[in-house]
Amino acid sequence: MARRPFVAGNWKMYKGPVEADALAMALKRALVDVGNVDVAVAPPMVSIAAVAARLRHSGVALAGQNLHPAAEGAFTGETSGEHLKAAGCAYVLIGHSERRTLFGEDDALVAQKVSAAMRAGLLPILCVGETLAERDAGQEVAVVTRQLEVALRGMPADQAAGVTVAYEPVWAIGTGRSASPAQAQEMHATVRAFLHARFPAFVGAQVRIQYGGSVKPGNAAALLSQPDIDGALVGGASLDADDFFAIIRAAAGR
Ligand code: PEP
Repeated sequence: MARRPFVAGNWKMYKGPVEADALAMALKRALVDVGNVDVAVAPPMVSIAAVAARLRHSGVALAGQNLHPAAEGAFTGETSGEHLKAAGCAYVLIGHSERRTLFGEDDALVAQKVSAAMRAGLLPILCVGETLAERDAGQEVAVVTRQLEVALRGMPADQAAGVTVAYEPVWAIGTGRSASPAQAQEMHATVRAFLHARFPAFVGAQVRIQYGGSVKPGNAAALLSQPDIDGALVGGASLDADDFFAIIRAAAGR
């Protein structure tokens, strides 16, 4: 079954409302004729309203970068999935390596956040990936399998089919050192095999697996030509409309 490519831009803590609006405007102009790719952007929380207004009816979806497991409550500084949904988000990033390493998010919290996203009607983009030390120790398959196992445990198959998995080796994020297409394909095949082992066949066939880690216009086509790479989660290059558009075009041509 052909999976529709999915490219998402993670703007991290860049682009306040005014700059985010300008980037969204440039994207909207560039993206007019890209038909067969799903595209989403994840602006900082404070910029979501501006980007939502600018991208209304553009076909570009919005994603949160994080959420709190509760629907609401006395959690100063946090944002719930329900609030992201009300602000116009369709997706939410969960378990990004910066959340795991800089903010201490463990697999159990990531699992709670995945459930919370489902409760709120958001589609999770579940980020998994090994550190350099884990790869050097030959543990990349074990680490990614554990991350998936905990995050997706007990999930009904119809919900699991709506999850996007982003394989993002931590050593490739923001470093300019991407995984090679062969390295990435090997890990994507591992993710696909995990899904086939745990869920009915349609789940593994349907789930889109994005690669993330220094995706640029120059390496996107080679990465996206791999059979199990269904799209990209793009950090730095998504902050430039031309670069992001070039990556989307590479996905369209896969
Ligand atoms: C990311 O933030 O998910 C990411 C992959 O960043 P970069 O593309 O900058 O490596």
